[in-house]
Amino acid sequence: MKILFEKADILFGDNLDVIFNGYLGIQDDKIIYVGEDKPTQKYDVVKDMSDKLLMPGLFNSHSHAAMTLLRGVGTGFPLQEWLFDNVIPIEDKLVPNDIRVGNQLAIMEMISTGTVSFSDMYVYPVEQIKAVMDAKMKINICRPILAFTPEDFPEKNERFIESLWLYDNYHNHDDGRIRIDLGIHAEYTSTEDSVRAYAVEAKKRNANIHVHVSETIKEHNECKEKYGKTPTKWLKDLGILETQSQFAHGVCLEDEDLNIIKEKGITIVHNPSSNMKLGSGFARISKMHDMGINVSLGTDGAASNNNLNMFEEMHLAAIIHKGNQNDPTILPSKTVIKMATVNGARMQGRLDTGVIKTGFKADIIAIDFNKPHLIPNINYLDSIIYSAQGSDVCMTMIDGFIVYEDGKFKTIDEEQTYNEVREITERLYEVYDGKKR
Ligand SMILES: [Zn+2]
Repeated sequence: MKILFEKADILFGDNLDVIFNGYLGIQDDKIIYVGEDKPTQKYDVVKDMSDKLLMPGLFNSHSHAAMTLLRGVGTGFPLQEWLFDNVIPIEDKLVPNDIRVGNQLAIMEMISTGTVSFSDMYVYPVEQIKAVMDAKMKINICRPILAFTPEDFPEKNERFIESLWLYDNYHNHDDGRIRIDLGIHAEYTSTEDSVRAYAVEAKKRNANIHVHVSETIKEHNECKEKYGKTPTKWLKDLGILETQSQFAHGVCLEDEDLNIIKEKGITIVHNPSSNMKLGSGFARISKMHDMGINVSLGTDGAASNNNLNMFEEMHLAAIIHKGNQNDPTILPSKTVIKMATVNGARMQGRLDTGVIKTGFKADIIAIDFNKPHLIPNINYLDSIIYSAQGSDVCMTMIDGFIVYEDGKFKTIDEEQTYNEVREITERLYEVYDGKKR
């Protein structure tokens, strides 16, 4: 199948240059042509993209997608109370099918706001994989380990066994759209023995590791009191940073931590909505960027956000640090767009996407600029960051397949998903018609 987009403005190449009124050709899952001149080859489908910008799809680098079913739970509480007193009691009621449905809802929200791939950490991963495969989306998924006491580990720890089983059975599944990471929930939910043994398994597989690190000052300082070192140093000493890793949040990282992160090539996933909503603080993103650390962006789960809209994360990442540091020159639009695209792809181990260029995967979105809040459009990069909304996305293509176009979902039954979500939320919250019984 060959598709040609014509009369399109295109955010092209590693430097995000703009081609005006150009052509973008796709064959199967790859980009085969980008340019100002009409290609001579024949195409099966030609689409007029007047008033639209084609840009690389977005990579949501940290999420707990099925938490769409817990959207807004625990609003107003700090992280520890939010998690242990509000979120976990509802999560305890979740059954495997809920995860499939919660993911369908999350995927609808993500693909309709321009996300083509996400990195996720939650429960019942096989149900999640089903939902992602049906939707023809991309995911890096892990089953994070938890261990609270030395007896929790290793041979008896079901999560540990399941986590490795998932990797060994599903890594690079579905034409590579499904990738498996190893996952550690966090230092404060792990034991040294469990992490040390996990590091050995990660190294054997050369697996990517996804972990929450130094999200709050409480967590960070308690680790220092308990072990005499920061969570980053603790992970390093247990051997966990020998393969590619990604740290979600990194709000309270110290200078020494940043040096380790730089040296080990770790990606920091910045989640500005979640950090602001939970009052966790400002990660030192511009310093990380200046040091050459790979920084990507994530939404976190819908209970601490409350949406999965990467345009909002780009906007917040661009403005909150300028305000906090009294400096409008830091984190320019191009830098932030790269965080949401190629930096996320690189973190996921997907080196053939995140940029529009020939030979790369056709993971592309279109933004409709024929909107009042996008006119006049003086600078595309700034318009994307400061003016555009997730709802301006009018087409999302993943591996050359259009999964969303003009408000229509091509791989998910919208009405059926809403009905299933309603049934589940009635059970989880004992509500009827939106009211508590
Ligand atoms: Zn998280």
